[in-house]
Amino acid sequence: MLGAMQDWDLRVTRIIDHAAREHGARELLTRWADGSETRTTWAGIRRDALKMTQALRKLGVGKGDRIATLAMNHHHHLISWYGAVGVGGVLHTINPRLFDDQLEYIANHAEDQVLLYDSMWAGVVERMKSKWTTIRHYICFDNGEFEAWIGAEDGQTEWATGDERDPCMLCYTSGTTGNPKGVLYQHRSTMLHAITSLQPAIFDFDARSVMLPVVPMFHAASWGLPWGGAAAGVKFVFSAVNDPAVLCELMNREKVTHTAGVPTVWLGMFGHMDATGAEIPSLRHAIIGGSAAPRFMIERLMKAGVNIAHAWGMTETSPIGTTGAKTWDWDDLPFDDQVSIKQMQGRVPFGVELRCVSLDDPDVELPRDGKTSGALQVRGPWVIQRYFKADKDAAIGPDQWFDTGDVAVIHPDGTLQLTDRTKDVIKSGGEWISSVELENAAVAHPAVAEAAAIGIAHPKWDERPILVVVKKPGAEASADEIRDFLGTKVAKWWLPDAVEFVDEIPHTGTGKISKKDLRDQFRDYKLADA
Ligand code: AMP
Repeated sequence: MLGAMQDWDLRVTRIIDHAAREHGARELLTRWADGSETRTTWAGIRRDALKMTQALRKLGVGKGDRIATLAMNHHHHLISWYGAVGVGGVLHTINPRLFDDQLEYIANHAEDQVLLYDSMWAGVVERMKSKWTTIRHYICFDNGEFEAWIGAEDGQTEWATGDERDPCMLCYTSGTTGNPKGVLYQHRSTMLHAITSLQPAIFDFDARSVMLPVVPMFHAASWGLPWGGAAAGVKFVFSAVNDPAVLCELMNREKVTHTAGVPTVWLGMFGHMDATGAEIPSLRHAIIGGSAAPRFMIERLMKAGVNIAHAWGMTETSPIGTTGAKTWDWDDLPFDDQVSIKQMQGRVPFGVELRCVSLDDPDVELPRDGKTSGALQVRGPWVIQRYFKADKDAAIGPDQWFDTGDVAVIHPDGTLQLTDRTKDVIKSGGEWISSVELENAAVAHPAVAEAAAIGIAHPKWDERPILVVVKKPGAEASADEIRDFLGTKVAKWWLPDAVEFVDEIPHTGTGKISKKDLRDQFRDYKLADA
């Protein structure tokens, strides 16, 4: 016998229908790269997305076809998300900052049919056009072309129908080794993720929320904000440029209550706020993730009355895995303890399961004791099963655990604390040293702008850490000073054998430190006692 309730398929077009019906007059704002602004509404987004589905159908683009974007955050980009899924297609957001060989690989691997792009990336398009073999149509978002293209339609059409397990979106991972890999989200997984994302510990959305997403729409589905934000009917304030002065002005003028971005966004914002005395009194909730948020950042925002959702996730997890959910005894905790909790990566919402297994033997599941670190695995309805076009599952074994490549500790109350990446952790004398903890400790030094720890081969210890440091402009510090400073923060045997100063540390296309390139750079490095 089956239950006797309605089969309301979980297709994401239902989200924009809801936004237009229940929050139709709610405003959205775009600040374009040239400084001009456009206002629209959720009803307008739906109408224009329907027009786009008509325009796509005229190009012969339909079910399962990949529609790519190369664009910053603005409402035309948002329209294209709903237009692409509305025609039954797969929205493929491309990170314009990837290297040329990655751009070539992913558009061809995805077999994109259409590319919608911002004029600021026209140079990339010109450069890559001859290498992209499947793209048939190029449409510019912000020179009048997109508006004319959809403006020729009347919006009198229906969304494509289909199965809730149909694909709706494709994102490639930043991958520091090998070719990028595609993660193909379903309507169902995206919808479940969107519903989950609304809760207070994650996006904390309701119809009064005003969200300025700094996280780009091309990074890990913009953390799901375009779906969750529509479901709640928030006002979006989009900025096509990430200049802190512009962001600060928009936040104040539009009374932004919510924002989301990687930690470096806040470094820029703090710099601007310190230089000008600006504040953001309307801000209530900041989602910070993508890499570890440093303590001083969390502390400063919390002191300003902002709730921090320090989130861990990956493209492969749609991306929400954990957020800085408050513990039951939160209100009784001293401020410093609250900051310490937020500095960790938080707890799972219902729908995500985590475990750690031994780095030496993946069959050994580790206790949640807040001490034993191991390889972090995850599973749930919005976690990857298989990379796009791969012939083997990415999730392992009958129990479907996906190996994240992160190294972590899980505390008895379920709080996740990331300690490293599997490939970056340093093994010295049979014990593991966390490169991330060394780096976090080093960047707290006032002269250090950026630091990266890598393992160097050692005949006795197997590996020993060295620390590569970029100094802040005009700041001075010696290697010994930095080692002494670290000595107050980490175990003695963790201290790097050497501190090397460089002008620049290599980064990946998504702005993360590229340990692979750094290890290549230091391949022939000799330690003094080796
Ligand atoms: P991506 O798929 O490009 O978003 O990268 C996902 C990876 O970013 C994760 O596997 C982590 O290594 C890292 N990451 C994401 N969020 C955090 C966080 N809050 N703290 C530390 N590392 C993070």
